[in-house]
Amino acid sequence: TQAEAHPDLSLRLAAGADDAPAILAPERTTLTHGGLRSLIQATAERLHALGIGRGDRVAIVLPNGPEMATAFVAAAAAASTAPLNPAYRADELDFYLTDIGAKAILVAENEAGPAVAVAERLGIGVLRLIVQPDAPAGSFTIEGAAVGPQAAPDMAGDGDIALLLHTSGTTSRPKLVPLSHANIAASARHIGATLGLSADDRCLNIMPLFHIHGLIAAVLSSLAAGGSIFCTPGFNALRFFQWLGDARPSWYTAVPTMHQAILPRAARNAEVLAAARLRFIRSSSASLPAQVMGELETTFGCPVIESYGMTEAAHQMASNRLPPGLRKPGSVGASAGPEVAVMAPDGRLLTAGETGEIVIRGPNVTAGYEKNPDANATAFAHGWFHTGDQGVLDEDGYLRVTGRLKEIINRGGEKISPLEVDDVLMDHPAVAQVVTFAMPHDKLGEDVAAAVVLREGMSATESDIRAHAATRLADFKVPRKVLILDEIPKGATGKLQRIGLAAKLGL
Ligand code: ATP
Ligand code: MG
Repeated sequence: TQAEAHPDLSLRLAAGADDAPAILAPERTTLTHGGLRSLIQATAERLHALGIGRGDRVAIVLPNGPEMATAFVAAAAAASTAPLNPAYRADELDFYLTDIGAKAILVAENEAGPAVAVAERLGIGVLRLIVQPDAPAGSFTIEGAAVGPQAAPDMAGDGDIALLLHTSGTTSRPKLVPLSHANIAASARHIGATLGLSADDRCLNIMPLFHIHGLIAAVLSSLAAGGSIFCTPGFNALRFFQWLGDARPSWYTAVPTMHQAILPRAARNAEVLAAARLRFIRSSSASLPAQVMGELETTFGCPVIESYGMTEAAHQMASNRLPPGLRKPGSVGASAGPEVAVMAPDGRLLTAGETGEIVIRGPNVTAGYEKNPDANATAFAHGWFHTGDQGVLDEDGYLRVTGRLKEIINRGGEKISPLEVDDVLMDHPAVAQVVTFAMPHDKLGEDVAAAVVLREGMSATESDIRAHAATRLADFKVPRKVLILDEIPKGATGKLQRIGLAAKLGL
């Protein structure tokens, strides 16, 4: 049941004045909002001519950058898009392209990875993006053989699927989440309203564009507000300050591990910092340690806004507020779009101070996972969407995420929130980064372990860190083992993965 088509839907995806900048990239000229609208129109017509229309699924396998952003926005106006991680190997591509039901795949002109061969083997059309060397950032044309007979010239409607994404797979096998145009437009508007985004704002994008955070918070919320986005090839702590100087962004958004990689380089880039015009910095997708938030605010001299997002909500659910509104370190903020509540296992809504599962409902929430009736039955019980996260609201309606239900460590029946242990270890002066996780134990089932990265030039031993933990935590919560590492393994989106970490680290 497809909703009515809206001929002006593409205008909502690129809402700025004709000559206002929309897409920028290193060493490229600027694509305006008018230029982006023409690109959306031309792409839709081209896809229709190649036999791709409403309801068809187009996978996008492109390197991070301006064309990845515009290919998503433009192709979504005609069909359903599924941006994939360009680092996937053949087996992964096989799984994801099949799961999505892709009819065609968009790749770069010089694509040399396994994507083309896998698509051909699966009978999926291969369309190449041609980028002229002197063309504005993000402009392209499409080359390739028709995938089917000419499609109807209908543009996508509000209820059509704009975006198909798999969840990050932090807690289990990634689930396929369809998001409608109505879902993503609502989320982009929520983010724009929370952050007061306008045509004057420019986002520096360092997030991967195959994940909800970058696609909606960085790209779509900027474009929907009439503003612009500087598209980098992806996060790189060494190049970050160069981009900050070149792009002169008014904000950027990132995951905590990126903020933590940026901070130690700030001192060496004092000139860029002094000239920066950042209005705020945003953090989302994983818990931001209060210490890191404080250091970021001091270093950059602007507020840090932590928000709470997930794929199924087209990203944002709750957020701290810009001054004069409240921001509370350690909290993900108040509801910022959808309704947010905390629920007991029996479906009763809890009040401030009571811990339970975080549930949401609102126009940005997916209608349900694809081909996964079991997950849907659990996720949509009692008329709310269940996030799988545990949390507690305070008297101001500010939410604290106390952990993920699946990550709670069960030490012989004692339940331990790894986030609580993280917080304490982060307070050790030599600790820069930490992740607490369950390691297998013969008798207890699970025991507490932690991996830490030390600050540059500081030292601490495993027993120093355990002794520090013991001053603040009950014995059973003190990590039995503390591994001191140069780097903690991360998922593709830069998130730390607690589940499976013990095995990865040989525990
Ligand atoms: P999967 O669902 O496959 O296990 P995932 O949940 O990590 O993977 P995403 O949709 O990318 O996939 O992430 C959403 C989750 O990230 C949230 O449910 C929550 O656990 C976590 N998260 C997001 N923002 C924050 C935040 N500010 N603080 C704490 N946790 C956060
Ligand atoms: Mg999840």
